[in-house]
Amino acid sequence: MTLRFHNTLTRTVQDFEPAEEGHVRMYTCGPTVYERAHIGNFRAFAWEDLLRRYLKWRGYRVTQVMNLTDVDDRTIQAAIDRGVSLEQVTAPVTETFFEDWETLGLEPVEHNPRATGHVPQMIDLVRRLEEGGFTYEKDGSVYFAIDRFPGYGRLANIDPEALRVGGRVEGDENYPKENPRDFVLWKGGARGDEGDVAVWGSPWGPGRPGWHLECSAMAMEYLGETLDIHTGGVDNIFPHHVNEIAQSEAATGKPFSRWWLHAEHLLSEGEKMSKSVGNFYTIESLVDRGHRPSAIRYLLLSAHYRTQLNFTLEGLKDADRAVGRLFEFRRRLAETPSTDDPGVDAPDLEGLANSWRESFTEALDDDLNASDGLGATFTMVREANLALDSAATASTAGLEALEAALGDFDAVFGVLSLRDGEETSGSAELEEWVVQRIAARAAARAGRDFGRADAIRDELLDRGVALEDGPSGTRWKLVSKAD
Ligand code: AMP
Ligand code: ZN
Repeated sequence: MTLRFHNTLTRTVQDFEPAEEGHVRMYTCGPTVYERAHIGNFRAFAWEDLLRRYLKWRGYRVTQVMNLTDVDDRTIQAAIDRGVSLEQVTAPVTETFFEDWETLGLEPVEHNPRATGHVPQMIDLVRRLEEGGFTYEKDGSVYFAIDRFPGYGRLANIDPEALRVGGRVEGDENYPKENPRDFVLWKGGARGDEGDVAVWGSPWGPGRPGWHLECSAMAMEYLGETLDIHTGGVDNIFPHHVNEIAQSEAATGKPFSRWWLHAEHLLSEGEKMSKSVGNFYTIESLVDRGHRPSAIRYLLLSAHYRTQLNFTLEGLKDADRAVGRLFEFRRRLAETPSTDDPGVDAPDLEGLANSWRESFTEALDDDLNASDGLGATFTMVREANLALDSAATASTAGLEALEAALGDFDAVFGVLSLRDGEETSGSAELEEWVVQRIAARAAARAGRDFGRADAIRDELLDRGVALEDGPSGTRWKLVSKAD
């Protein structure tokens, strides 16, 4: 079996091989840290984590870079609007971004460069382009002349002649370009009301880098001039990635990235989830409503990355139940009596684990078909449960094989390990608090203050604790707040 990915550049599914044997160099467009990221953004990041984990599971070493866009039009605008420094906008957002990252069980990547820490490399890249004759300068700003780069727009399958401005553009209409389709590499001056929120010295005078330039400079700084994989959401294809290719390849004369992988959008109420539409949820808001991170992660990964996924709270509950089934299955394996000598009628659990591994690999090798990978896993769970229902004991080797299969599944999907943490987190503290609240409620009832007793019951329920009054006193259990 060979690993294959859909390459946006060729619009085909191609066998994957990194340039250096066994080592994948991968660049991921990171967040713009002007406001807390929403779960739409995290669909892209969770899928990139799945890609990374699967490459590792297939035996590759991965060097992944994900930048932080901490200077661009949106971050600058936020600083101006709030009357604070750029750093005062970006530092707290960066912090919450990594909190959410951890909540979702995303692996740390090798490098998280900040754009503001790499301005010299960006200036250097503009200089190389200038020397190569790809740029022109006007009023302290430097532009990339797309006519001078043959093949411009190939990634997005666009004809530069027919190009209309779409996607995310950097407020470039304020710049006096020779050709409206050109893009700004270096934005000159402390212009108008932007003040000096973000200004660096350069050979063209004071200014700041354009957004596209940032990613090319940081990618090449850490990964060399040709990457194996460049990822992002489909909204990044044009103009961001088209311009990254133009400026990188014009500077180096080499292909910038061999594979381009793009994730489709997460929708909400039938529309792309976005800040501007306002139809978004953050990880924090969902967790505050009692949803488990493992369910959020599962939901984001459950559909093939090249299909749109419509987010609903109902879907999130289904995802939670799915993770619960896997979790219970693993518990059952641990609790099933085992024997080294199971006899001839014992179910062939090793066979189930082996055929799972084959189908799982086949699915994920095929352009990361996560939904088929999950399908194979639930087939294994269903068949193993049936087999265990009718067997008094199971072979030690068979149970171990199934446990290993679940371990492998989780090395890639990472939902069971999240769920483990959720089951145990804060339990001692919680228990102490619950016991104390139950005592307070009993005291209120004894004093016939039923209003207060009910309020305490609701307070507990709000934290996911349900009470049951019985002859031997009040018992409590955890329930999902989302139910
Ligand atoms: P930004 O912070 O806007 O630069 O976006 C960070 C990442 O999130 C990019 O890879 C975007 O393509 C991706 N993204 C933004 N909105 C969505 C969405 N609704 N669904 C999936 N990915 C998204
Ligand atoms: Zn980028």
